[in-house]
Amino acid sequence: MATFSVRFLGCKVSHTDAQGVREALLADGHAEVPSAGGGDVAVVNACCVTHEAVSKSRQAAARAARTHARVYVTGCAASLEGAWGAMPENVVVVAKPSEETPAFVAGDVGAIGCVQAESRLERTRAFVKIQDGCSFSCAFCVVPLVRGSTRSRSAAAILEEIRRRARQGHVEVVLTGINLGLFRDRESGWRLPRLLREAAAVEGLRRLRLSSIEVNHVDRQLVAAIQETPTVARHLHVPLQSGDDGVLQAMARRYTVETYLRKLAPLGDFNLTADVIVGFPAEDDRAFERTLETVRAARLTKVHVFPYSPRPGTRTADEDTVPPQVKKERSARLRALSDDACRSRWETKVGREDVVLVDRPGRGYGADYSPWLVDARVGELVRVRGAAVTEEGVRAA
Ligand code: SF4
Repeated sequence: MATFSVRFLGCKVSHTDAQGVREALLADGHAEVPSAGGGDVAVVNACCVTHEAVSKSRQAAARAARTHARVYVTGCAASLEGAWGAMPENVVVVAKPSEETPAFVAGDVGAIGCVQAESRLERTRAFVKIQDGCSFSCAFCVVPLVRGSTRSRSAAAILEEIRRRARQGHVEVVLTGINLGLFRDRESGWRLPRLLREAAAVEGLRRLRLSSIEVNHVDRQLVAAIQETPTVARHLHVPLQSGDDGVLQAMARRYTVETYLRKLAPLGDFNLTADVIVGFPAEDDRAFERTLETVRAARLTKVHVFPYSPRPGTRTADEDTVPPQVKKERSARLRALSDDACRSRWETKVGREDVVLVDRPGRGYGADYSPWLVDARVGELVRVRGAAVTEEGVRAA
């Protein structure tokens, strides 16, 4: 038996990938220990979405190499060419498709005879991957290069995993993937709207969310599936990246600002969140002002701000014309706008009822994924009334 720890950097897909490796090691009888201490094996599921993410991933692997006999680097960044030079000798970089990685790591560590029962992950929420890879080719994005083009899991396998999670006691499932709208099960012919309806009907599941959806895929069928399925959270994360048509075109995104706003209009009461890249080479002051206007017009609340950093192998790998100080200032303005928008939404909840899923001691999320401060048992869904707004969310009465 080996002792191991797993950590991930980056997004929900990275979290799901790390979970896959962790489950494979547990299933082979190895013992998980806290990642802060030492052990036989450390797994670092690394991220390469920005230059900074790669640096942090390298640091995490180098640090783990000092306290563990062997370190496996997995995830997006493992497949990024040139990212892993000069690492300690006990670091193994697993540049394989995500589907093959858990079996490879588990095989390399070696199974032992006694096999444990299946692992329980987070207490309330499970992330279930429905597809991987991306067939879009946004000019700045390294993901299709490191993860390949889209491929979907079968609907039957996804539903089976959701049933298993529900039996384990998870009350919330988040469907994850790199580009969820590309999900297509060729056997059943199901696309995302049908999968969403079927997944929401799994017994024991109280809440279902999509991790993120490209606006191109927000069509009539998907909106209907979301609105007609009470289990589905009243929240959508729809990457915007820029609110300026010229920048969107330079990014090779497949929509205009007008399309973005029009497609989200039927979801007027939803809590809408997004990613925005700040300081893309084509972004001048006016373009950035238009991004602020679009964030307001779309009624976005939480905006995840990414200062642009060129990624190797992409079409804009050699372009980075906006000075760092300007990126910093624009990022701060956008974050301030996002903070105000969150607060305004939370204020509408004071004096009103919501159903909160408690996912940590003292905290949880409402039906639209707004954060709440509540006093209830972890894993419970509780009906509460908003009393006040704090820096961290709505305080329940
Ligand atoms: S949609 Fe664009 S930004 Fe998103 S993963 Fe695909 S190529 Fe990257």
